[in-house]
Amino acid sequence: MAVLEYGGMVSPGALYGPHQAAYSKALTSSNGLPDGYPWTACCVGGGMQFYNAITLRYRQADLSASRYLTTDMEIDWPIALQDLEPHYSEIEHLLEISDANGFSAHLASPRGLMLSSAMQELGIKSRHIPLAIRPPGTSKGCIVCSACDELVCPTDAKASVLARNILDDSALPGTISVLYGCFVNRIELLNDNQAEAIECYVPLSSELIRIPVERVIVCANAIQTAALMLRSKSGHATRGIGNESGLVGRGLSFKISGYSVGHMEPADYGSNALAAHWGPHATVYTDEFYEHSDVPCKFGGLIYEANFPTPDENVGLVRLHYIAGEEPWSHNRIVLDEAVDRYGIPYIRFEHRTSANDRARIGFLADRADDVLRHLGALHIERAFAHSKGSSHLHGTMRAGRHPRTSVVDRLGRVHGFTNVHVMDGSVMNFAGNSNPTHTIMANARRMALSLE
Ligand SMILES: Cc1cc2nc3c(=O)[nH]c(=O)nc-3n(C[C@H](O)[C@H](O)[C@H](O)COP(=O)(O)OP(=O)(O)OC[C@H]3O[C@@H](n4cnc5c(N)ncnc54)[C@H](O)[C@@H]3O)c2cc1C
Repeated sequence: MAVLEYGGMVSPGALYGPHQAAYSKALTSSNGLPDGYPWTACCVGGGMQFYNAITLRYRQADLSASRYLTTDMEIDWPIALQDLEPHYSEIEHLLEISDANGFSAHLASPRGLMLSSAMQELGIKSRHIPLAIRPPGTSKGCIVCSACDELVCPTDAKASVLARNILDDSALPGTISVLYGCFVNRIELLNDNQAEAIECYVPLSSELIRIPVERVIVCANAIQTAALMLRSKSGHATRGIGNESGLVGRGLSFKISGYSVGHMEPADYGSNALAAHWGPHATVYTDEFYEHSDVPCKFGGLIYEANFPTPDENVGLVRLHYIAGEEPWSHNRIVLDEAVDRYGIPYIRFEHRTSANDRARIGFLADRADDVLRHLGALHIERAFAHSKGSSHLHGTMRAGRHPRTSVVDRLGRVHGFTNVHVMDGSVMNFAGNSNPTHTIMANARRMALSLE
């Protein structure tokens, strides 16, 4: 079995921004410039190398969000939460997620403690965030060497595909080889329902190589997976693989999200809670507004502590992040542009706008975050909302369901009409969910992978 990866290996301590700068951008509908972000992270191990290890389970409402939201696409997942539960447990065990399966809980950071008290005083329930980071003071635990956001953990205290025993080749006839620096350009078809090879481009040697396959499992993220399927046009799939109904790339959904930063009284900067921040990006959160009658559509999301990536940047500031799953609409999509990048690969273009419901939902969460910051004594609050130029939470472009007219893959991730082409990443999530997605992407991939004979 071979894993083909475009990016290279990342070094311990590598920073996200400089590492990702080398990889091509997407065109955005607003200005036609390549300024959109079509990756979570391009490297062996993907976005998990840099992630914040927030590992919350989804809820049934995330899988049946049509209770709250209506769009022109099927929103509900074709499975129930109980289908994911054994896989969540296994992933929690493999990643050593704090406060689960007997692994120690993380203590709240000084800011987390302060935020937690403010929330309680406002009648908002606060909780500890489950993290895939071994807590400080435990065996091989976090050494609190920096602020963790956007950083490859230098000690492997944070879980990643490389830092934990996640890949299991014991049931395979051979081993798992990882070929990196290898861009999968297209899937070649033998006939109308079977892949026979993949074509890869190796930028380092400018070579185009062809690899025969028995089966292809695509896990390239919700933007890149759809782009690969669209690039794979041939006489057997004239609109791209799985795209007979024109659905590939549609339903592109990010998290709607934003940050509020409270600027605190300078006289208080010396306090422990307003000093530089070291350690995990976030330790406390509230899910009070996940499903709540006061929220627009009655469906909100999370608000959590969100420290800046460099320790000193946090002095005198308290930052909160709010996220919720975006409504999937068919007009939100990725397409391939006619313009090509320096390797001759068509640019990905986003066509995306945020709905009025989503603006209202995230506005509600932002107001509640600001209540907390004001309660803490913030002198002024700055807000920043994420936009449609990309996100590291990517979902929805290869929708899962029973009918080829309304979905691209079946409940096991197999592309309708194909015997050996599967998709097992965030693109098969019909609703993005109101929580951070990686834990769920992994649990769902494990569920689908175990169905392969
Ligand atoms: C700074 C940061 C913080 C985050 N924090 C959290 C968090 O706390 N909790 C959470 O749940 N999530 C978090 N995320 C999101 C998380 O990283 C993603 O949800 C997760 O990585 C998705 O995993 P994936 O395997 O589906 O996709 P990816 O991680 O994107 O992996 C896909 C891989 O495919 C490769 N690829 C794509 N196209 C091709 C091609 N054509 N040929 C060859 N290779 C290709 C990419 O290079 C990439 O390595 C964070 C992300 C970032 C960047």
